[in-house]
Amino acid sequence: MRYVSTRGNHAPVGAAEAIHLGMVPGGGLFAPEDLPRLDLGALRGLGYREIARRALGAFLEGFSEDEIASAAGEVYGPERFDVPSVADLVPLDDRRYLLELFHGPTGAFKDVALQILPRILAAAKRKLGVTSHTVILVATSGDTGKAALEGFRDGEGLSVVVFYPHGGVSEIQRLQMVTTEGSNVHVFGVRGTFDDCQGGAKRIFADRRLAARLEREGLALSSANSINWGRLCPQIVYYVWAYLRLVDLGRLREGERIDVCVPTGNFGNILAAFYARSMGLPIEKLVCASNRNKVLPDFFATGVYDRNREFHRTISPSMDILVSSNLERFLFEAAGRDPDRVRRWYAEFEETGRFAVDGAAKAAMDEVVAAGWADEARTLEAIRAAYRASGRVLDPHTAVGAAVCEDFGPSDRVTVIAATASPYKFSRDVLRAIAGEEAADEFRSVARLEELTGLPAHRSVAGLRERPVRHDRLIGVGAMEACVLEVARARCGTRS
Ligand SMILES: *Cc1c(COP(=O)(O)O)cnc(C)c1O
Repeated sequence: MRYVSTRGNHAPVGAAEAIHLGMVPGGGLFAPEDLPRLDLGALRGLGYREIARRALGAFLEGFSEDEIASAAGEVYGPERFDVPSVADLVPLDDRRYLLELFHGPTGAFKDVALQILPRILAAAKRKLGVTSHTVILVATSGDTGKAALEGFRDGEGLSVVVFYPHGGVSEIQRLQMVTTEGSNVHVFGVRGTFDDCQGGAKRIFADRRLAARLEREGLALSSANSINWGRLCPQIVYYVWAYLRLVDLGRLREGERIDVCVPTGNFGNILAAFYARSMGLPIEKLVCASNRNKVLPDFFATGVYDRNREFHRTISPSMDILVSSNLERFLFEAAGRDPDRVRRWYAEFEETGRFAVDGAAKAAMDEVVAAGWADEARTLEAIRAAYRASGRVLDPHTAVGAAVCEDFGPSDRVTVIAATASPYKFSRDVLRAIAGEEAADEFRSVARLEELTGLPAHRSVAGLRERPVRHDRLIGVGAMEACVLEVARARCGTRS
């Protein structure tokens, strides 16, 4: 299968090249030229690894079955995920299920993709005959950073550079990142927001002069953000797995439709569900849940995307985003895969921070998406309510999802809510919600939450206190490029 640019500014490329490039040089994202059909009957009874193997195989044309099977086999096992099924599906009430995606090494859903991406990227480089040292550029709203660092650390022939917004991630998220070991990893706090970090990274990608300069030095850039198809594609798998699990549990008849609710920031995770739907997974509505940074719900209500608004730091920091990159892939589909319209919208967006889609695209989106948002008070209330009713401990992002999907009930459809992070990454706020307690610091809130709930702290959070801080640099947005160059030239400790 080939990948085309959402803006029509690049010739179609194979999977290996789309993944190695990360995004379209010159702007735009790679989107699959067509989507394979799911044969749900043939997938019944298979485990996560096997479903992953088949689904990834359909998208990664040119990769051998062996490569994909060994990558999925190595990664999706008990050494890296603390439930045998990789993801877990647990009831929240009689109609709503939590799809727990945080059982990987860093306690975030991003692990599911970022554990396998390094293997896919290494195979892509082999296929392309690329021998350059790759610098993986990561902008993070909190969770991608650590998940990428864990996935790529000590990988051969590559370095990782992570930019996170200073003051814009939870203390646990920050500590997870800045204590990472590994000779090839670099973490920078940026004085700015996530949008500044992501915007800076995108500008670096789009800078052809820089790319040429790096190439002369035997260096290439790639991305571990969900702008990279290799990051998005493994996320399709868990929606398929969840649906089949519900069928196995006798909760669904095969073919019966469900709703999927996803707490959303960069629109990556929900886009994976959209692709699953387009491949034939029986999903009726995709419920897009936002926090007070509700640029997406406003867009779905009006057809006007407008980032010119106040930015809020919330208790769900990984969703504190005003520029949702993957929306571009969704718009490409909603526009009937017409790159000219997408290019016009984004040209306007780059100019004014705002664009309006046409009626046809709006109608296509309305058919698939329902969107809503929840403020902090409702988020805390959703955590409290879930704990009281079922003993489930939700993290604030998942709680935004739970709160928003109540706005769309009652319906008799089963709803799957993506549970995107371990509550222990946000212990302070979770403790506040559940017990009304204010702990003296992060670590005390972790201990207290364990005591209260009996749920053991996620392994990447337990022990964090003892680890030394290894990365403490704080930079301005304007210094991102210089940092990338510095890291690229140092090629710290890698052998390529
Ligand atoms: C990244 C993240 C999100 C948002 O996911 P997108 O793919 O960016 O929409 C939601 N919750 C948590 C905990 C996250 O880390």
